[in-house]
Amino acid sequence: MPEDLNTTWGRLLSQRFLRQAPLAPLLTIRTGGPARYLLEVRDGQEAALAWVTARSLGVPVLLMGRGSNLLMPDEGFEGLVIHFGADYAHMEVAGDRLIAQAGVSLKALAYFAADRGLAGLAFAAGIPGSLGGGLIMNAGAYHGEMAQVVEAVECVDQQGRQHTLTREEARLSYRHSLMMDEGLMVLGATLRLTPGSRDALYATMAEFQALRRDKQPLAWPSAGSFFKRPPGYYAGALIEQAGLKGLSIGGAQVSEKHAGFLINTGGATTAEFLQLKDLVQQRVMARFGVALEPEVRIITNAAP
Ligand SMILES: Cc1cc2nc3c(=O)[nH]c(=O)nc-3n(C[C@H](O)[C@H](O)[C@H](O)COP(=O)(O)OP(=O)(O)OC[C@H]3O[C@@H](n4cnc5c(N)ncnc54)[C@H](O)[C@@H]3O)c2cc1C
Repeated sequence: MPEDLNTTWGRLLSQRFLRQAPLAPLLTIRTGGPARYLLEVRDGQEAALAWVTARSLGVPVLLMGRGSNLLMPDEGFEGLVIHFGADYAHMEVAGDRLIAQAGVSLKALAYFAADRGLAGLAFAAGIPGSLGGGLIMNAGAYHGEMAQVVEAVECVDQQGRQHTLTREEARLSYRHSLMMDEGLMVLGATLRLTPGSRDALYATMAEFQALRRDKQPLAWPSAGSFFKRPPGYYAGALIEQAGLKGLSIGGAQVSEKHAGFLINTGGATTAEFLQLKDLVQQRVMARFGVALEPEVRIITNAAP
């Protein structure tokens, strides 16, 4: 007989959830308070069960990958964080297909593919996200994006039903996907790659890395480009032309190296990042009449 909700919850609570788990070390921007509960995903079915159970009991849930596009509240997250990280990162090759779990890092995925002579993921080698987060956001760089390589996405809906979405059904577009709109949990994906030379792929990835090191403030914690590219503009260029490079509030600063990045120069809080974000948006709007929309996902404890 299946367990009832409270029994399932009690079991997860006593056996699998970490309590008051610090989140800042899991986030590339290094701010935010602890999660009331944290589940390190080892098994997709268990993650789905935890998700559905929490939702049925009214406990807020955040699905998290490598934490490279998230800003969490300073007071902590008053619910359950389901973390798809290194414990849920299996990958394997079948012909020209790569089948991987959501927690695998995009960098590991790109090198794994290159080592097996499979091309298509070089663009992803320098994006510090997970496969799951990369699919939700349709991560991309240097003329590549996840949409180009996805064949199928394994998802769970909020009722716990499992679905396999085709690339068309997943509707990946600029920093956007059906999974984002529908609030689906991504468990993994099948990527369709093409034959390529390992050496050439390594060279391309090294070139992309060098371009990043040259242009981006990689020595500082950040969540990457803070704002989406507004149609017809580059967010970084607008911020720079508005004279905002180096502008700071507490430990949060508009990077001197790349104005699209808001960096943590040490001890910043999420509140400081939010104030800086508002100021940048106001100044760019006043100067150019362009609304900057955050690319970073800003999480709050407010009821949805
Ligand atoms: C230095 C730096 C450089 C970057 N460069 C780029 C770049 O070139 N291109 C680019 O596109 N992005 C870039 N980013 C942003 C970021 O790496 C990407 O958006 C990445 O796809 C986020 O993946 P993640 O696993 O870290 O997701 P997270 O930050 O953990 O989460 C992002 C969103 O995805 C959701 N999510 C995560 N995992 C799952 C899952 N399994 N199921 C359902 N929902 C999930 C979360 O709820 C959240 O809404 C950069 C970030 C940094 C810090």
